[in-house]
Amino acid sequence: MSEDGRLLAGSVRRDDRENIALRPKWLRDMVGQDSLRDNLAIILEAAKLRNEPIDHVLFYGPPGLGKTSLAHVIANEMGANIRVTAGPSIERAGDLAAILTHLKKGDILFIDEVHRLGKAVEEILYPAMEDFVLDIVIGKGPAAKTVRLNLPRFTVIGATTRLSLLAGPLRDRFGARFRLDFYSQEALEHIVTRAAVMLKITIDPEGAREIAKRARGTPRIVLRLLRRVRDYAQTRADGRITAAVTREALELMNIDHLGLDEVDRNILSTIIEKFNGGPVGLETIAAATSEDSATIMDVYEPYLIQLGFLDRTPRGRIATVNAYRHLGLPIPQGSSPDQPKLF
Ligand code: ADP
Repeated sequence: MSEDGRLLAGSVRRDDRENIALRPKWLRDMVGQDSLRDNLAIILEAAKLRNEPIDHVLFYGPPGLGKTSLAHVIANEMGANIRVTAGPSIERAGDLAAILTHLKKGDILFIDEVHRLGKAVEEILYPAMEDFVLDIVIGKGPAAKTVRLNLPRFTVIGATTRLSLLAGPLRDRFGARFRLDFYSQEALEHIVTRAAVMLKITIDPEGAREIAKRARGTPRIVLRLLRRVRDYAQTRADGRITAAVTREALELMNIDHLGLDEVDRNILSTIIEKFNGGPVGLETIAAATSEDSATIMDVYEPYLIQLGFLDRTPRGRIATVNAYRHLGLPIPQGSSPDQPKLF
């Protein structure tokens, strides 16, 4: 199934556009991520007191956890303009130079997928972030001259699902770095209930709980499941989302009680049945399941690891005893059921 077609992918799909209206506007609207919010509040308050733009900020973590939302929240809180772009869209150094020369004091430049910036583009970004200058080469060959332009104080907010792919010097230029964690069940219940009010959907607390339980700790997924269950409730029930309606709807979509779909189960059963539980390399899993290795790593694995179903080791991925249990497969002899890992 393509990523776009996958209901439980944390990454953006076309039908997520409705989410924009649901995006938190202020820090106080953000649910969960308590320690991140507290730290960010201090940075924002201090910058406001000094009447200065905030330091460059980097958000990292799996897709759908609120990195883009946080960039917009920061812009709102600071009363700043935000310019939104993404690593792959800035192809040439000149593209970035054009963006930078249009920034005004205090503006925010949000770069999503910042790990995908090219080398030449990064070279321009380093002095711009550190010293607020832009070096432009005019002319060609021996007659070429470098002209240094001063830029206004601005803020880069970077977001990435892959901190490890971010070049060290770029990482170091972000004064504040925050990791986003999966959300608790309560936080997701809160998000789904609030969204239901905004979308005028009738949902009872048990319905909200059932949806939150299957949302893989991810706000984007909780909102997507809410819309799908709403469709089911409107066409197959009386329009109200209850626990029973949610269970029926999600069963129909093949999403189990932990929020795993057939792709997750396929990854786990492939490791167990074709590779004796692992260790097996990421590329081999990708080939055996016909999924893209980057998608497995960014979208599927983090939640399977969080559930304790998968272990990432230097020798490859290993399915844990919990994965065997979840799939109802016999646990191989020699591994005690109390042992967290198999091999
Ligand atoms: P990311 O950039 O990490 O992929 P987004 O910021 O696009 O994630 O968040 C996905 C959706 O989830 C947003 O549209 C927003 O409505 C919702 N969301 C994310 N974080 C929160 C939160 N802390 N509280 C409420 N809603 C959230």
